[in-house]
Amino acid sequence: MSGPDVRPLIAGNWKMNGLTADGVKLATDLAAWVRTDASAAPDRKDVLICPPATLLAPTARAIAGSPVLLGAQDCHGAKSGAHTGDISAEMLADQGCRYIIVGHSERRAGHGETDAIVKNKAAAVLRAGLVVIICIGETEAERQSGRTIDVVTRQFQGSLPSGASAATAVIAYEPVWAIGSGRVPTAEEVAAVHGHLRGLAVDAMGDGAGLRLLYGGSVKPSNAKELMSIPHVNGALVGGASLKLEDFSGIVRSVP
Ligand code: PEP
Repeated sequence: MSGPDVRPLIAGNWKMNGLTADGVKLATDLAAWVRTDASAAPDRKDVLICPPATLLAPTARAIAGSPVLLGAQDCHGAKSGAHTGDISAEMLADQGCRYIIVGHSERRAGHGETDAIVKNKAAAVLRAGLVVIICIGETEAERQSGRTIDVVTRQFQGSLPSGASAATAVIAYEPVWAIGSGRVPTAEEVAAVHGHLRGLAVDAMGDGAGLRLLYGGSVKPSNAKELMSIPHVNGALVGGASLKLEDFSGIVRSVP
């Protein structure tokens, strides 16, 4: 549920999926749906897609003039230089990105990204004038040993760059064990974490009451309504279900 001042965000993370034809078709169809279906309500919800870097330019062309926003899945902390294979936040802004995801658990686990690295990347996103989506979340072992709140607190405080505000940052709570698994926490478990994150946000920034707190991890049309009605859940970060128009639009529709 979003408070009166919190504009929901539904973000699709396409991960490493799609060649040009697939991406352009999905983006074109989504843009058409958002323009024409009243339940998309772009006047009060933000809809974002984060394709792989190779698809940013064609996707930007496909959604041009529509309310659908473009984002990237990662960036380097530096503006430019000798960083083979990396892409800066400024380069992503140049491609039309408005948002960049950082600290996804697949990058924390697969690329050894620590909170300090994530914070550096998040600061780069702010430097480029974009909005940063910072992902945090506990592993299954951490949850089972009762450390969820400690872990998300450490990640929140360690990954949020100074100067971040509700206008320039978004936090996505994604339990690692819920990503791509079909398993989701109970509404009570999500409410406990999001309520705690709201407190951290209020402590960390003057406008923390308006910081968007997304839930991510196996969101589907069938569970989105319940998840999106939990207090302090201001939208969703969606992986697998963002690759099918029917599923992603169903999730967008479920956000009040
Ligand atoms: C994600 O990778 O951010 C994610 C939430 O994936 P999925 O929706 O597939 O669980």
